[in-house]
Amino acid sequence: MTKSAATRARPSPAHETELLLAWYRRHQRPLPWRQTKDPYAIWVSEVMLQQTQVATVIGYYQRWLERFPTVTALAQASEDDVLHAWQGLGYYSRARRLLEGARYLVREHRNELPRTPAAWLDVPGVGRYTAGAVTSIAFGAKAPVVDGNVMRVLCRLYALPGNPQKAPLAQELWRLAEALLVTGAPGDVNQALMELGATVCQPKAPKCSSCPWSSRCRAHAAGEAERYPELPDRPKPTQVIMACAVVTRGERVLLAQQAEDAARWASMWLFPTVEVRAEPEATAALVRELEERYGLRGRAETKLGVFKHSVTRYRITLHVYTCRLDAARRLRANARWCSRDELRELALPAVHRRIADQWSASGARSE
Ligand code: SF4
Repeated sequence: MTKSAATRARPSPAHETELLLAWYRRHQRPLPWRQTKDPYAIWVSEVMLQQTQVATVIGYYQRWLERFPTVTALAQASEDDVLHAWQGLGYYSRARRLLEGARYLVREHRNELPRTPAAWLDVPGVGRYTAGAVTSIAFGAKAPVVDGNVMRVLCRLYALPGNPQKAPLAQELWRLAEALLVTGAPGDVNQALMELGATVCQPKAPKCSSCPWSSRCRAHAAGEAERYPELPDRPKPTQVIMACAVVTRGERVLLAQQAEDAARWASMWLFPTVEVRAEPEATAALVRELEERYGLRGRAETKLGVFKHSVTRYRITLHVYTCRLDAARRLRANARWCSRDELRELALPAVHRRIADQWSASGARSE
C-alpha cells in the first residue's frame, strides 16, 4: 500500500543521494566507459550514447578507441575515416562534431584536456550536459547532468508538473540535479542518476519496487509515476519515399558523395537517390536524375528491393532499381565508380550499406 503524497518524507538531497549511491554500487552495469577516467574516452561515450542504445554503442565505442585511441589521433583523422568509423550509428552530425571538437582541443589545449565545465563549453558541439558528464566523471568536478533519464527521474521524484524541456522547469531540474551532488563523488552521483532512469525509472511501467527512492518518490506515492514528465506530444512521423539507382559499369558501381551542408546524410556516400511523391514515379525520376545530375543516360531495369529506414521523425522507404547505361559522359567530381573493395572503405548510411551488401552478395552486373 502506498502512502499519500502528504505523508512522504520531505526531500533531503543528502539522504536521497546516499540511497542512490548505495543502490548504484550494487546494481550498476559494468559498461566499458565506466572502467576509465580518460576524459577523451568518456567524451566519446557520451556523444555516442546520445539518442543511441547502450547495447548498440558498446561495439562502436571499443572499435572507435582502437582506431582513434587519443584525441590527437582523432584530430589527425580525415572526415571520411571518421564517418566510416561511425557508419551505422546514425545521427552523423555527432561524428563531425567530435572531429571538430578534437581539432579544437588539440589546437587550444594540446594533449592536456580541460578539467572544468566552463572550458569544455568552449569546445565546438559540447553543451552543458556533455561538459558536466566529462568533467564530473573524469575529474570529479561538481557539475550536474540533465539528460532524458535524469529529467524523468527528477520529475517523478518531486512530482513536478510542466514541460521539462522549457523554462522554468528546465532550469529547476538543473538546480535539483546539482543539489544531489551534496555527498559522494559527483561523477558517481551523475552516473547513478542516469542509470536509475535507464534501468529502473523507465518511461513505461517503472520498476518502483526495485527503486531506492520508492519510499520518497512523490509521483509513486500518488500512483501517478507515468504522468511525469509532462512532455509535449511527439510530432507524427513523416513518410518519405525515395527512388535509388544501382548503376554498374563492369565490376564497379556508381556512388556519389553528399554535399557537406546536405540536410540528410551530409558528406556520406550514397547510391544515386532522389525523393519522389509516390513509387510509380520512381523509375522515370531515376532516369531524369541520372541524366541531369550525373551526365548518364540509362534506364531502370529490375527492382532490387524495398528498403526501410527511420531517422528522427522520418520513415524513409527506398525503392531500389538496377539501372542499365545507354550512354555516359564525364561523371561529376563528387561521384565515382567503385569496386567492391572500395565500397567497403567508404562511409555509407546504414540503409545504403544494406543496399551495397545486397548488391555485393548478388554479384550482379547490369552492363
Ligand atoms: Fe521512478 Fe518509481 Fe523510483 Fe519514483 S519510485 S523514481 S517513479 S522508479
